Amino acid sequence: MARTGNNLERIKFQNIESIKEIIYRQGPISRAEIAELLQLTPPTITTNVANLIQQGIVRECENVPSQEGRRALGRRRVLIDYIPDAKYTVGVECGYHGMLICLVDIRCNVVAERKYTDRISYYEETIDAVARHVEELLEEQGIPREKIAGLGIAFPGFVNQREGVLRYGAINKWKDKTITKDLESRTGFACIMENNVRCCAIGEAMRSDRLRPETFAYFLVSRGLGCPMVIRNRLHVGEMTGAGEVGHMVVAPKGPVCPTCGNRGCLEGISSELAIRERCGQAVREGVPTLLNAVCANPAEPQIEEILQAQNSNDHVVCTIMEDAITYIGIGLANIINFISPPLVIIDGRILQSEKNQKLLIEVTRNNLFSVNVEEVDMEFVPFNKFRAAMGAAALAIRKFILEERR
Ligand SMILES: [Zn+2]
Repeated sequence: MARTGNNLERIKFQNIESIKEIIYRQGPISRAEIAELLQLTPPTITTNVANLIQQGIVRECENVPSQEGRRALGRRRVLIDYIPDAKYTVGVECGYHGMLICLVDIRCNVVAERKYTDRISYYEETIDAVARHVEELLEEQGIPREKIAGLGIAFPGFVNQREGVLRYGAINKWKDKTITKDLESRTGFACIMENNVRCCAIGEAMRSDRLRPETFAYFLVSRGLGCPMVIRNRLHVGEMTGAGEVGHMVVAPKGPVCPTCGNRGCLEGISSELAIRERCGQAVREGVPTLLNAVCANPAEPQIEEILQAQNSNDHVVCTIMEDAITYIGIGLANIINFISPPLVIIDGRILQSEKNQKLLIEVTRNNLFSVNVEEVDMEFVPFNKFRAAMGAAALAIRKFILEERR
């Protein structure tokens, strides 16, 4: 008997989650359409929607049909949709750009974004600062605590989302920090933590202004490289902590030694921002004539913006290093696409903002694809935005604390 009870309970949870998900992705939507799409009975939809309305997170809204539609249908349809300001979440990224905080509504519309100058160096101080800044932001925005569904936290490094533990922090080499628990006790809010690049991916999956396919890959070239995946609307988190860590895939066995993994010719050791900066700096140190000497504050240690500026001015040294880096990125990306066959790859990164670099990446990737549907893979470049991971962490909290059912 207990078993049947558990099964019924599980089906009930699955139904509620499916209904919330379909309203999120397709709302405003009618009860009849929900029933049809999910193959559930109208009474199941009616009961569950009534519960959501009672909870205050969705509402009925009448759509006004066009003149033509009015004649054809003869009556208004009642549609269901989320109430954007019914709940909010806060996303925080403690990363290389500092401490970034983003407040979003249920629809992941950004209400406020703030950058704080706190240095992320000591653990307890960092956690205290996050808690303090979240409170300040809510006060400043006049959002009562009961409207906050939860916090999402993004960190670069290896994160075990289920356990809420930062297994290894890329910035300070923090090990096994129970960040979720520590922030919950300081803020009183429910918390969830993820790797910062994976947060970027979930942020795209939850975007309100653009419906993404249910499955896609998110490819980021930054200090390192990452390619998390969203599969059927869920972030693929894997069994351990490293899903999407493609940076140390070897693409050139005779390439340079990677300072992180120690292997030769991994993608990160050739094509990451750090690798590009290192190679450009080396050219300067060796006395090769380059515009870097003119555009950089410290030519021996060029910043990525300065390198891009020199590339823009067609500096030969920088253009060669950049083309080499992007060629290897294209080979790596083609391998990834061949392996998982996603309908869409979202591509992010400062070095992939210019049309020239985008064109080269598309060309190399397509040349290395092995597939009958090479043209069907959509490669979309997104603009650089340093708040992406913080916004994604907030989106993850929406998914966890609003769209999923607590069990
Ligand atoms: Zn490596």
